[in-house]
Amino acid sequence: MDLKEKIRVIPDFPEKGIRFKDITTLLKDGDAFKYTIDQFQKELQNKDFDLVIGPESRGFIVGTPLAYAMNKGFIPVRKPGKLPSETIRSEYKLEYGSDVLEIHKDAIKPGQKVVIADDLLATGGTILSTIKLVEDLGGEVVGIVFLIELTYLNGRELLKNYDVRSLIQY
Ligand code: 5GP
Repeated sequence: MDLKEKIRVIPDFPEKGIRFKDITTLLKDGDAFKYTIDQFQKELQNKDFDLVIGPESRGFIVGTPLAYAMNKGFIPVRKPGKLPSETIRSEYKLEYGSDVLEIHKDAIKPGQKVVIADDLLATGGTILSTIKLVEDLGGEVVGIVFLIELTYLNGRELLKNYDVRSLIQY
């Protein structure tokens, strides 16, 4: 299936000069959504891991069905003030702006192996920040899967010490 065909590109969103990859057009197509999660599963089939981690908010959309399909637990990484129990935080830079991410302190046990899932790799800042949270808790990142990779932003370079997979590239 050509997943690229299912993604809508919006010029000048959320700022002038950004060509936003809108995945809602893929998500509303049941076959394309299922195919996406099946492809993630294929990428990870030989990996031993305990948990899927998804950063807010599109990481929830791709991460939870993946965790369910592979019978793993899911851990949300969230914007500040959203998680109710004790958290640790990490600051990061985005393609447009900067932000803080948090994870529950007891979300990962030292030595647990995790896979991080998100919709899109741009500069890699979001995922580097997510990796830092996982590693600060003693977790091991054994794989990172993206639906989309913007290769011209070279986020892969920032994540060069990790096994990074993407289903489609721009
Ligand atoms: P990075 O931290 O790699 O620069 O940015 C990636 C994050 O920003 C992802 O969590 C992603 O959801 C969001 N993002 C940045 N650009 C786009 C885009 O064009 N389309 C979508 N769907 N998300 C984007």
